[in-house]
Amino acid sequence: MTTQSNSPAHTSEPVVRLENATRIYNPGENEVRAIDGVTLDVARGDFMALVGPSGSGKSTVLHSLGCLDRPNSGRVFVEGQDTTTLNGDALAQVRNLRIGFIFQSFNLIPVFSAYENIEFSLQILGTVSPAESRDRVNEILAILGLEKQKDRRPNQLSGGQQQRVAIGRALVKRPAIILADEPTANLDRRTSEDIISLMRRMNEEKHATFVFSTHDEHLMHHARRVVRLVDGKIVSDERKVA
Ligand code: ADP
Ligand code: MG
Repeated sequence: MTTQSNSPAHTSEPVVRLENATRIYNPGENEVRAIDGVTLDVARGDFMALVGPSGSGKSTVLHSLGCLDRPNSGRVFVEGQDTTTLNGDALAQVRNLRIGFIFQSFNLIPVFSAYENIEFSLQILGTVSPAESRDRVNEILAILGLEKQKDRRPNQLSGGQQQRVAIGRALVKRPAIILADEPTANLDRRTSEDIISLMRRMNEEKHATFVFSTHDEHLMHHARRVVRLVDGKIVSDERKVA
């Protein structure tokens, strides 16, 4: 098996790039450099794990890559576009169109069904017709094995099913990149493995680009690239050759 199929476009332009990004909390005497001069290129088709001790800056890197948070200095490029000078609305537009997020605590809308949670992600875009939206949501539900659960609300779903809905919500937009912050931290071992294989399948079959943070050794082993952070700095960046 080769990794070639993971980068269909074979473009050299990174999907997302952090360039010398520094994020400082509590500027002044008690300042914390959550990330400190981080430069990171995420290539199209990457399946990347961000690892490192608690507090090493993993979430801050993900939030910066996803334009949820801005570094104090340095730059963030999304598909070649420098986001540094964008105002809040324009940045939200980049997030909505190009970035999918998966959180540790799922963050689904409690009054929406599984179907509606996924559909909502397309409605926000405002560019997908109702017919296409229906097709795309149903396709994703089938891929996720959630057809029978589509009318259930989050509290009627198991943790693993909720996380699959969250993956569906991220994927249905066909974003440039999917960012996942410890996506299996609240799941048992078997469910975590299901979620990991599902993400990996989406990476291989749909060429979805993933960056996820994890403490989970198992998840780390499935990564094709492992970036390690210590004290807000990248200390290693290893690609696996299949
Ligand atoms: P990780 O995800 O690896 O645990 P984080 O990116 O959450 O690391 O945090 C990196 C550092 O930044 C930690 O020292 C953390 O305490 C600090 N930090 C993160 N968010 C905030 C915040 N909102 N206010 C103050 N400090 C923060
Ligand atoms: Mg974190």
